[in-house]
Amino acid sequence: MFTDSHCHLSFPELTEQLPAILQAMQEAQVDRALCICTTLEEFDAVHALARDHHQLWATVGVHPDNEGVQEPTLDDLLAGAARKKVVGIGETGLDYYRLNGRSVAEMEWQRERFRVHIRAARQTGLPLVIHTRSASDDTLAILREEGGFAGGASGPVSQGVFHCFTETAEVARAALDLGFYISFSGILTFRNAADLREVARFVPIDRILIETDSPYLAPVPHRGKTNNPSYVPHVARQIAEIKGLEVEAVAETTSRNFEQLFDRAV
Ligand SMILES: [Zn+2]
Ligand SMILES: [Zn+2]
Repeated sequence: MFTDSHCHLSFPELTEQLPAILQAMQEAQVDRALCICTTLEEFDAVHALARDHHQLWATVGVHPDNEGVQEPTLDDLLAGAARKKVVGIGETGLDYYRLNGRSVAEMEWQRERFRVHIRAARQTGLPLVIHTRSASDDTLAILREEGGFAGGASGPVSQGVFHCFTETAEVARAALDLGFYISFSGILTFRNAADLREVARFVPIDRILIETDSPYLAPVPHRGKTNNPSYVPHVARQIAEIKGLEVEAVAETTSRNFEQLFDRAV
């Protein structure tokens, strides 16, 4: 019934508890989760989760925050994308939150890495999983420049999702106009997230995905604990409250949205 569109089950604190998590997912009616890759070094483990478990799927990509790891080439990403049960490219994007004393101009390596991922998405037709933090202008500008998106330059239309969305309604509008989906995490349930709940009110239900981003960001009432995909119904419940819908309707619509975007994951 529920789909967790973004989790990190390959991270040790979750891998250690995998049988219990799969059991908890079943009990919570979370019948699908997308395992997100953050380094090429980690990709075999992410892929193995999807290969070995019918309800798990995988992406290939290198997170913008990861430095001192293998830099992905277009061929690396294409090779990963060719594997069974790999259904998306990412997570990728830009993160200017922790510059560690550097200027934005010095982050060109991050922008170049992002462009390589966009090219892989265009070549494979797979959707992009976008991470953006303190960098929404450049994220949108690069997506437009690299083209291929609705409203962008010519080329085959690819799509994607802005994951763990914490930006403004204006950024949401721009992402929607480019053909992207918006994914909300447990942050939506936090007491101090009233502004984000207003953004969720604005985004049409047929463009929303839900996620845990586990092991981080456990939703209320589990805030502060290690998160896992079985908690994603709490995000759906919050959206149901915001939109005046039944939680079953939110579960069904967000799962259908997921299948439309990640159309290999069915
Ligand atoms: Zn992220
Ligand atoms: Zn993530």
